[in-house]
Formats: sequence, C-alpha cells, structure tokens
Amino acid sequence: METVDCIVIGAGVVGLAVAAEMARRGHETWVLEAEDAIGTGTSSRNSEVIHAGIYYARDSLKARLCVAGRHRLYDYCASRGIAHRRCGKLIVATADDQLGRLDSIVATAAGNGVDDLRRIDRDEALALEPALSCVGAIVSPSTGIVDSHALMLSLQGDLENAGGLLALRAPVERITGRGPSFVVHVGGEEPVSIGSRCVVNSTGLTAPMLARRIEALDPALVPRAYFAKGNYYALQGKSPFSRLIYPVPEQAGLGVHLTVDLGGQARFGPDVEWIDEIDYLVDPRRADAFYAEIRRYWPALRDGSLQPAYAGIRPKIQAPGEAARDFVAQGPDEHGLAGLVNLFGIESPGLTSSLAIGDMVADMLVN
Ligand SMILES: Cc1cc2nc3c(=O)[nH]c(=O)nc-3n(C[C@H](O)[C@H](O)[C@H](O)COP(=O)(O)OP(=O)(O)OC[C@H]3O[C@@H](n4cnc5c(N)ncnc54)[C@H](O)[C@@H]3O)c2cc1C
Repeated sequence: METVDCIVIGAGVVGLAVAAEMARRGHETWVLEAEDAIGTGTSSRNSEVIHAGIYYARDSLKARLCVAGRHRLYDYCASRGIAHRRCGKLIVATADDQLGRLDSIVATAAGNGVDDLRRIDRDEALALEPALSCVGAIVSPSTGIVDSHALMLSLQGDLENAGGLLALRAPVERITGRGPSFVVHVGGEEPVSIGSRCVVNSTGLTAPMLARRIEALDPALVPRAYFAKGNYYALQGKSPFSRLIYPVPEQAGLGVHLTVDLGGQARFGPDVEWIDEIDYLVDPRRADAFYAEIRRYWPALRDGSLQPAYAGIRPKIQAPGEAARDFVAQGPDEHGLAGLVNLFGIESPGLTSSLAIGDMVADMLVN
C-alpha cells in the first residue's frame, strides 16, 4: 500500500490551501477530489467577495481567520497575478430603525481589528453612489473581489510545485486505522487504499457525512449538516454602482447584496432557502422577492432586468433559527486522534479565510 504524509480530502479552495501549505512545509501531500475538476462545489458558487471581517463575533475563528486571511489573500493575489480588485463596499440602512445597527456593526468590526470603516450620512452615501436610496451607510474600503478559480489554480500549482499531487475522480468512502497509520479508502472507477500519517476532511457540505465514516472517530463529536441555499440573479445591463452594496445583514446570511465579478457582470444574492438535499437549480419564482429586497436600496431597478443565475449552498451546522455557529476545525485536542482534522461549517467567509485556514490546519497537524 502506498503511504504518504498527508491526505487532504476535497479540492475546494480550503482543501487546496491546506494542501499547498502542508506541501510547502515539506510534507508529501495528496489531495483526493471526488469530482473531475477542482472547485466545483461551494468554492465556485459564492459571491467571490474578499470580506473585511466586519460582522463576526469577537475572537471567533471567523473573525480572526477572515482578517488574517484577507491580508494574506491580497498579498498572495498581488504576488501571483491573480485578478482581484479592492473595490470597497457600502452597508446601507434603508430605514431609520436600522441606523443603530450601523453603529453596532462599526463597533463589532473595530473589535475584530477592522478599523477602516467609516460611518457616513445619506448625503455622503448618495454622493458616492447616486442611484442609492438610504438613510445612512458604512463605507468599507478594504472589501474587494477575487477570481476564485484563478486562486484555486494557483494553489494547485503551489501544491504540485512543492511535490504534492492532486487526484481527481477519487471519492473517499471511509477511513480506517488511526494516526500515524490512517488508511483512506477511495472508491470510484479505480478503488484504492492509501496509508497516511495525517488526514484532513475538507469536504465542505458533506464533511459531517464523511466524518461519520472515520472508524476511530466518536460519532457523537460530529455535528449534523444543514443546507442553506443561496440563489443569485444576474442583472441585465450595466450596474449604476461602482462599489458592492449590502443591506444591513439578516439572521442566516448577509442579505441580498449587489456584487460584481471581475468581468463586470453584476449579480444579486444570495437569499436564504433551507433545503434537505443538494440542489443548485434557481427557481425563477423567487425573483419577486429579489425585486422587493433590492428596491429597498435601489428603487429604480427595472422590471424584467433580473435573470436567474446560479446558486450555492452554505454548509451550516446549526438548524434554521438557531444561533450562528463559528467555523469548526476539529483536531486532536477535540477528538484525541493524532493527525486528523475535520473542517465543519466552513461557510462565508471561507474563501477570504482560506489561506489563514491553511496555516491554522498545518499548525494543528505539525505541532
Ligand atoms: C452562497 C454563498 C456565498 C458565499 N460568498 C462568499 C464570499 O463572498 N466570500 C467568502 O469569503 N466566502 C464566501 N462563501 C463561503 C465560501 O464559498 C466557502 O467557505 C468555501 O468555498 C468553502 O470551500 P471548501 O473547500 O471548504 O468547500 P468546497 O468548495 O465545497 O469543496 C469541497 C470539495 O470536497 C469534495 N468532496 C466532497 N466529498 C468528497 C469525498 N468523499 N471524497 C473526495 N472529495 C469530496 C467536493 O467535490 C468539493 O470539491 C460563500 C458561500 C456560499 C454558499
């Protein structure tokens, strides 16, 4: 049986970042991916926003990894020529009773080390974005956008340049043994078993399901998976906004916001639709709710200008209505199995945080 230092399961942006970092530190690392390409899951079905780190609870992993990851990501993109833009964003209050929320958002952000937010009044917001309707706003200059696929390709390149390997069409079915002698059983067309000193479960939406197939892991430690789909609609025609526009956030997501990709295509989303099975179809009947949400901050949005675009699914580990949970990086301190890390609930800001998650997981495995 072939044996390697480290197997990372899942070639999304997080798995690739972990694998690239492990390989960079000199560990022979393989990535096993079920699909026939990298990044076909949540990593290619998101807003592609580099978040500043504004909303998350102080000292949470989301707050710390987002702020650290954002700095790392801007530097990495600049050094590797990965398309990105620090376009900035406005968080807009559309009713007087939301103005207090803006103040608390600024305070939360400051606690997370995001100290460049600026609270502005309606006139200043309209001077920046004349098409907007609002009663006040926050400017976040360090929010940006990134070409997430180019980022993943670059991480794959880093892995391979450091001697690592990516195997596609390699669905992991179960893991037996315990560190330093895990055995990873791969199904698919050419089933194989591979020995590994460390294993990282970075399978996104299905991470809890795979964790239940790790023989030595106590199933009581595995959270239940919940899926919160986010649908996007594309704007036909040119957006009048030069920054990203976000409403004051709602409970399960950041609210239907306007983002733009690096090709200039504006899109709105994601909304929140709790579902039981993975399903990426966008129901055109959800458009009415989108028009209503968007017209709160952009009243001139024309009828018929939104087209169903795509959907992503948030890998939640709390049920609808329960308090938001932090990222979970479950390592030996939690489950007692040396060399195993399970990543659960890596929803937004997982793209922004990916490089910092890679550092953290490598530290957990190597220390
Ligand atoms: C609607 C939405 C919008 C978002 N917007 C943003 C944003 O603007 N900014 C931001 O920072 N974050 C955002 N996020 C979060 C971000 O997209 C995710 O945190 C990130 O992409 C997660 O990457 P991942 O590698 O953990 O998971 P994934 O990209 O889902 O990768 C998991 C991989 O594991 C593979 N896999 C699964 N099971 C197996 C198996 N048994 N064997 C082998 N392979 C397997 C899958 O095929 C997949 O390729 C958003 C998320 C959603 C849902």
